[in-house]
Amino acid sequence: MTDYRRLRVALLGAGAVGSQVAALLRQHADELADRAGARLELAGIAVRDIDAKRDVDLPRELFTTDAESLIVGSDIVIELMGGIEPARAYLLHAINSGADIVTANKALLATHGPEIFDAADQVGAEVYYEAAAAGAIPIIRPLRDSLAGDRVQRIMGIVNGTTNYILDRMDTEGAEFADVLANAQRLGYAEADPTADVEGYDAAQKAAILASLAFHTTVPLDAVHREGITSIDRSMMDAARHAGYVIKLLAVCERLVEASGESISVRVYPALVDRKHPLASVHGANNAVFVQAEAAGNLMFYGAGAGGVQTASAVLGDVVSAARRHIAGGVGVGESTLANLPIVPIGRVTTRYQITLEVDDRPGVLATVASTLSEGRVSIATVEQTVITAGNGEPGVARLVIGTHKAVEQDLSDTVERLAASGVVERVVSVLRVEGD
Ligand code: NAP
Repeated sequence: MTDYRRLRVALLGAGAVGSQVAALLRQHADELADRAGARLELAGIAVRDIDAKRDVDLPRELFTTDAESLIVGSDIVIELMGGIEPARAYLLHAINSGADIVTANKALLATHGPEIFDAADQVGAEVYYEAAAAGAIPIIRPLRDSLAGDRVQRIMGIVNGTTNYILDRMDTEGAEFADVLANAQRLGYAEADPTADVEGYDAAQKAAILASLAFHTTVPLDAVHREGITSIDRSMMDAARHAGYVIKLLAVCERLVEASGESISVRVYPALVDRKHPLASVHGANNAVFVQAEAAGNLMFYGAGAGGVQTASAVLGDVVSAARRHIAGGVGVGESTLANLPIVPIGRVTTRYQITLEVDDRPGVLATVASTLSEGRVSIATVEQTVITAGNGEPGVARLVIGTHKAVEQDLSDTVERLAASGVVERVVSVLRVEGD
């Protein structure tokens, strides 16, 4: 056995991901030593409750509730506790104690990323976070390293497994949102409190991380426009299917090039995706990130966006990278945020829309709708009209599904407001963006 240098590894957290990381570190110790060029010695695991039941058997003597002491003298600190505090304080302590850090904590990076990266820069340490954006899927390294010589134009990501599972079942089984959510909670695909997933908060954190990397710009979480999927119902799914689309919760990070200069838009919302688009074939709780780069063209990264052992794979990849860097020496590669592009509000975004209206079924209504759209700088691409209730002498109700050409979001929302107040529209059923073309 090669006599490798020993690196002290501290693990903070032994939940779904941490327990698997600990198990794999021990199980594959010899192989990992050969790959890293260093023996990765698990010095201890900090948890809240030493006697809590773990997913895997680990020696009791590894556990401690004293994270602070465990961190001191460690070469690599892996943070898998989640949440903001004390994770933030422990990571800063680790960096200032001379460790490289590995974390899967999207909530922390999306809110305190600059502080953590700056602290690492100050001391020449490195921050690894491959598992923070899409679980097992390698996307951080491709954006940070492989595409560092290219210009990313757009990222469209299905980065939340719970919402993809719910929308996929609504699409394939014609089920209602509440029923699928309850079922997902029973199966463990959704948390008892599903807010972070179904309201898009989790996807927004990942969008902030991906956009920061892709556009070399710090993207604060509050600059990410966010909408969830709770308003999506079966009739919207049916209408989408009828029009050749599927509804997906997308994280869209886009470079906008205008005469006045470049800017970026980062947004999360349910959108219509053409059934022929690669993202339409992402089923169940899987994740995928579709990247469009100037020279590379279209790239798609697909796989498990969560799961203890799957996520542990990405964490261990980071641990091996950290170990290699530790052995090679030198300062860590800091985050590249020098492009510092302005982030535009959602109103400035340009995309296509599908507007579904219930209108009075009488002559002249279509003309009124068309002229209101045209006055609002929204150009119609397709219109489909279906009578849904016959009138018995009075005007009945018809459903209009209008597909638009590209329009500016602010123009579109102002126009929809005018339509709603026009006297001919009974109800605005839905307004969905169309993404992916
Ligand atoms: P988890 O199952 O809730 O486990 C959290 C662990 O951290 C537990 O072992 C807990 O100790 C420990 N912990 C929490 N607060 C602590 C504190 N104040 N002091 C010491 N230990 C503390 O979490 P997880 O699902 O493994 O997720 C870990 C991280 O990975 C999160 O940032 C999450 O966003 C990220 N992530 C998770 C997944 C996934 O599929 N689960 C996927 C991608 C990224 P006790 O066991 O004693 O309570």
